[in-house]
Order: sequence, then C-alpha cells, then structure tokens
Amino acid sequence: MRSLWDDAEASQYRGELGLRVYTSRLLGRDRSLVLHGGGNTSVKLARRNLFGDEEEVLYVKGSGWDLETIEESGFTPVRLDAARRLAELPALSDPEMVEQLAIHALRAGAPPPSVEALLHAILPRRFVDHTHADAVVTVTDTADGAERMREVYGDAVIVIPYVMPGFLLARAVFERIAAGTAGMDGAAAATAAAGAGRAAAADGAGGTALPESVLGMVLLKHGIFSFGDTARESYERMIHLVGLAEDYLRARHAWVLDPAAGPGPARAASDPGAPLSPEQAAAVASLRHELSVAADRPLVLTSRRDPRALRFARRPDLDPLALQGPATPDHVLRTRRLPLLGRDVAAYAAAYRRYFEEHAAAAPEPKTMLDPAPRIVLDPELGLLAAGRTAAEAAIAAEIYQHTMDVVERADRLGGYRVLSAAELFEFEYWDLEQAKLRRAGEPPPMAGEVALVTGAASGIGKACVEALLARGAAVAALDVDPRIEGLFPRPAALGLRCDVTAEEQVTGALAVAIAAFGGLDVLILNAGIFPAGRDIAALDLEEWRRVMAVNLDANLILMRQCHPLLRLAPRGGRVAVIGSKNVPAPGPGVAAYSASKAALQQLARVAALEWGRDGIRVNVVHPNAVFDTALWTEERLAARAAAYHLDVEAYRKSNVLGLEVRSRDVAEVAVELCGARFSRTTGAQIPVDGGNDRII
Ligand SMILES: [Zn+2]
Repeated sequence: MRSLWDDAEASQYRGELGLRVYTSRLLGRDRSLVLHGGGNTSVKLARRNLFGDEEEVLYVKGSGWDLETIEESGFTPVRLDAARRLAELPALSDPEMVEQLAIHALRAGAPPPSVEALLHAILPRRFVDHTHADAVVTVTDTADGAERMREVYGDAVIVIPYVMPGFLLARAVFERIAAGTAGMDGAAAATAAAGAGRAAAADGAGGTALPESVLGMVLLKHGIFSFGDTARESYERMIHLVGLAEDYLRARHAWVLDPAAGPGPARAASDPGAPLSPEQAAAVASLRHELSVAADRPLVLTSRRDPRALRFARRPDLDPLALQGPATPDHVLRTRRLPLLGRDVAAYAAAYRRYFEEHAAAAPEPKTMLDPAPRIVLDPELGLLAAGRTAAEAAIAAEIYQHTMDVVERADRLGGYRVLSAAELFEFEYWDLEQAKLRRAGEPPPMAGEVALVTGAASGIGKACVEALLARGAAVAALDVDPRIEGLFPRPAALGLRCDVTAEEQVTGALAVAIAAFGGLDVLILNAGIFPAGRDIAALDLEEWRRVMAVNLDANLILMRQCHPLLRLAPRGGRVAVIGSKNVPAPGPGVAAYSASKAALQQLARVAALEWGRDGIRVNVVHPNAVFDTALWTEERLAARAAAYHLDVEAYRKSNVLGLEVRSRDVAEVAVELCGARFSRTTGAQIPVDGGNDRII
C-alpha cells in the first residue's frame, strides 16, 4: 500500500480544509480502502464567527458525499464542544443525535453530518480518517480478530470490540479513551479525558488524552481510524496501518488469492467478463423476472462472469463461506446480509421474511420490512449477479461484492471468515436512521428498475427517446451503427452499443451485452430508419428499395423476434413503441421505398399487438412528420422537400394544422409515455405527432 500524496497536487488545495479535501480524495481513489460513500474524514479547526468569537469547529464528511469526489462544501461544520458533550451523555437515541448534530451545524443548508460525527469529535487529534479497508476487515473478520490486531499493530492502535455505529459507538470509544488515562478511576478519568479534549481543542493543538504513540483505532468487524496533526500525517498513517495488515496477510499466504493466474491486467469493476450465450442471457432474464416479482418492483440485474467471480461462485465450500454476512456492516444496506446461492428466489424470500420476523419481534420499536429479494446472486454458471432499484445501485452492489469475495477468501485462508451475528446485522439493516430514510423517500421515478432498448439512438428521435427514458429512471441500451454511440451517454444507466441492426448476429451480440449489464428488457423502441433521396418510382433502383426495406422493415422483424422472449419476462409487461411515419396514412410523391417500408412496419406492429397481447406485451405506433432536427435531414434535403410542396423552408417546417415545429423530443416524449403506466390499457394504437395534418384529419 503506497501513499498517493503528491506535493504538486497538494499545493493546489488551500488551507487545512483544502488539504482535508485532498487527502479524503486520495482515500477515495483507492477502492480497497473505501467504496461508494463508505468511510469518512474530519478536521477540527478554530474559526472566528461574525461576533468576533473564536469557535472550535468540527468539519466532518456530510452524508451523501463520496470521499473520491468530495469538495469543501461536502464537509459539515459542527460546534465541536457540543458534539463532544453529546458523546458524553449517558444515553441518546440515534434520531436525537442526528437532530442535535443538525441543530449544532454552523452552515445553513449543510448536509447532515456523518453518523460517525460524534466519534470524530471525541478523538483528540486534529485530523481523523476512517475507512473500511479490505485488509483490516479481513484480519478482524476472523474468530480471533482482536488478538490478530494486537499481532499486527501492538500498542499503535486502540482496539474496540464491535458496537453498533452511532451514539453507542461514540460513547464506547469515549469511555475507552477515558479509561486509558493512567492512574485514575473510571469516572474521574472520563471527566479528565473530556476536559483534556476540550482544552486541547481550544488551544488548537489536538488532544493530549491519547499517548503520541497511538496512531489509530480499529473497530473490530467494522473498520479502522487513523489520526494526526496534519492532513498528510493522518492520511499516511492510514496507508501505513493498512499496509501492516496487508503484510500480515501476505506473511500468512492469505493475500495473493490465485497465484496461478499471475498478476495480469487489473480488471475494471464494471467489466462483465465472458459474454453470455443466448441460453445464459435467457436464464439471467428469468432470474431478473423472479427477483422483481419477489421485490414487487422491477429491478436491474447486472452480471459479472469474469474468471474471479466464476471461481468464487464454483467453490465447493461456497455455502459456509458466503452465508456468513458482509465484510463490514454498512454493506448490508447494499448487498443484504446474505447472497442467494443458485436460483431459488422464492426460498430466499421466504428465509428473508423469517429473518425479519424473528429479529423485528425483538426490536424496541416497530420495523418496516424491506422487500425480501436478494441483492447478490452467486451462480456457478452465471457468476456474480447484483440487483438494484437502479443501474447505479446494482453496479455498486456488484463492486462491493467483488471486494467481499476477496475479504472472504483471505479471511478463510487466515483461519476462517467470521462476521457479526444475524441479530447484529439486522440491527444495522433496520437501524432507526435507515428506516427514517425509507419513510422520507418519495415515489421512485416511473420507470425505475426498468430496462429499455432504443435503436438509431445516436441522434434525432432515438437520442431523444434515450434521454426521455433516462429521465424516467430507466436503464437504457442505446444501439446505433454510428460508433460515436459508445461514448454518447456516459452514465451507469446507459449503455451505448455499436450495432448494425440489419445483421442478425450483431443484434444477438448487443442483446447479450445489454442483458449482462441490466438483466432483461421491458421497453423496446424501434426507431432506426433511413430516408433515401427522393426518386420517382420509374427511376427507383431495386438495390435502394431493398436497402430501405432491410433497415426500416427487416431489421425490426429481427429485433422483435429476438426481443420477444425477453419482453415476455418484463415484470410489468413488455412494451414496444414503433416510430412510424405520417407517410403511412398520407404518403407523398418521390418516397415510395420509405413510405412502403413504414407501411409494412406498421402492419408488422399491428400483428405483433394482436399476437403478443396474451404475453402482456403492448405494441403502439407513433407517426411523426416533418421532424427536421434528425440525422435524416440536411439543409439541401429540407430545401428539396419544401420545393416539392411549393413552400419556402420556414413555412414547410411549420406546415401543419397547429403551425408548430415538431421536434425530436416531442416525438420521443409521446413514444416513451406510450410505454408508461398511463397507457397500460392501450395496444395497437397509432398516434400522430405531426402538428395536425389536413390530409389525415
Ligand atoms: Zn464505518
């Protein structure tokens, strides 16, 4: 483990809060230290307020911020003295603690401070860093973690047995630090420690209640803290301490997991690994269907079939290893306590209900059960699969479990992976603060958890459809023959895939990639099409006619045929929106191939509506007209078509009953809305989006 501190980089950050930002980002850069919102950091600073009084302020990471990307505004300033005194109270509920921290915050609109804020407050050092480092949790997630921590660190760290994070943990650490003050009885020591902390903070020099030789603190089965007088010192102590844990594992042959595989290139966490065969893709889609039924909402399911995941999922001793629990309690919120091994979702859901009922009965206040669907699935054939209410959630769960596999296997080599009890993990999973978040959470976006596929997605109506779907919370596979599609939508919920939809094997390949990324298909938007230069029938070249039919018609048959088995498995029923054309009901001269292809496509869609109704799949058509912000239209073509109707370009643009220009997004909104819940009873419909056409009305 190497320090990433760089003087040139550090010099771009101003002041101690600036350096706090810098070293927090350094921690966040290393996924083996913190993952997705995990870990937190703080700095204690003296500030003069508006009245000229000097105040001691704890700047602590606000919830909702990631260390990797945190900024100064991501640190919530809290009155240090108040935070310390809260930790000294004999009792405080966690909701009260959160409220008190908000009351004592010193910036209006600051995010709620980390629930570990009190712990940061009582640690008598200026800078405090906290991570759930893989190497440290590996060593503590064993039967004899406490002794092993002594072997690794000697007296350089304080070791705290597992206590639920929040007030109880802060209080336990406060008592431990107080008890550590030599030559005093418990109560006097507590008072002295508190006093020492306050006095030390007041002179701005950090605390004195801990010997200088103490560099950090380990929370068994949870993580590690380091502290120091400067940002660099605290950060580099974290690197040093985690490095010692790595060395300890290495010396016991518990670090390198697969020496046969060699070093090899590091895999990206999002690399799906080996492609899915059509049978495997079908199995993934069935599994996603069952998970969504158990969750009573559509879930995105992302899969990782890399050699590492497959090797883990195929371990003969997988049951005892994987059915322990997460590496650190905060992961329970992302991965659930246990993965599903194999594909029996119903049995998992039944076991989850039993787990909830058993532990909720013992809880001091009523609990609301989360949906009983697993978030992690390990399957010997499909590898590691992770579910989430959004594509981002699923990807985060997958990445966390990729680290969990390392922790589990290394701890196993060390003598056995042992984590918290089901009761302790239930307490975390159903923590008051998490339950309150559920109560506060509003309605999810209308298409959250759903997966869509759009063709011709690099421009015009297709691109606007992708945007409309993303805005409604869907994950989208965006296909286009234009290679620029691959970088067009850089976000976890979108997957740009280069694909010639007239080539059957390319469609099969793109679907396999989409299923590996998102798990299934709910919505299909058939948009790709070409519009050749105007030509009278007498001069129409057969090759051109066939090319138009291949793209505008045959490709859609290929897509519909291949997507049908997936759409049947859509939790809310599959939906298809076909982008037709005004030329179907009202053709114009010179565009025979285009008009004929769209008319045939419309008949294909109508027959699909008839055939697929029994599978719960709705098929509707929109007929746009004169949408000029698409790749089909150039200035020249626009001028030519305007001339064909004896209009100038501006008049041609708005030559409809409403006198309004029709834009790509006007068409996309209707197409996507047709796939939404409001049209759940509509199939086989044809909706014009043309500003009103007097030849049709
Ligand atoms: Zn933590």
